[in-house]
Amino acid sequence: MSRILIIEDEVAIAELEKDYLELSGFEVEMENTGDAGSDRALQEEFDLIILDLMLPGVDGFEICKRIRATKNIPILMVSAKKDDIDKIRGLGLGADDYITKPFSPSELVARVKAHLARYERLIGSGVKENEILEIRGIKIDKTARRVYVNDVEKSFTTKEFDLLTFLAEHPNHVFTKDELFQEIWDMESIGDIATVTVHIKKIREKIEFNTSKPQYIETIWGVGYRFKV
Ligand code: CA
Repeated sequence: MSRILIIEDEVAIAELEKDYLELSGFEVEMENTGDAGSDRALQEEFDLIILDLMLPGVDGFEICKRIRATKNIPILMVSAKKDDIDKIRGLGLGADDYITKPFSPSELVARVKAHLARYERLIGSGVKENEILEIRGIKIDKTARRVYVNDVEKSFTTKEFDLLTFLAEHPNHVFTKDELFQEIWDMESIGDIATVTVHIKKIREKIEFNTSKPQYIETIWGVGYRFKV
């Protein structure tokens, strides 16, 4: 039987969710504060977490981040505001789904079932989950070597992919063009640091909304580049 944890401070909502999920055959636990919810989510084994965003104590953003640091169970985030959903997406916290209050209990149950089924397929098939980096709308699938910008796949050459991934894995760290060249291109290769500039330009064309005002890869004049988070 799948075990679900509901972290929700509005007790009436939490109980409604619990009733419907139990009727569908799930084992359900509830916590009404961020701190208690966060502790249980991290210490116990659950198959799915339903996480309210605004909570007393630790909020849903932080709890999502903490769970994702160690677990890949589905996280369904709940919020009263549509704007928050955009914010959650933008932060790339790794939540699997988002639902806005008020929602119908049957919609919640349907989503829970869908996520559990997907997760069980993933675990059951023994397929290791791809290693994915997500930063504000950019998804870098390191295993499949694919890049998605706002869910649209962009085609990257090997070196462009390596360069973007390297920068994204070292956020807020300024690298000189020399350092990047040494890191991404092997020493034998013909080329120079101008190659780095050319590749950065190409990457920006694929990931930036406005290449003259880059939101991801910043130019630090006279030094090099950094990936902004
Ligand atoms: Ca709340």
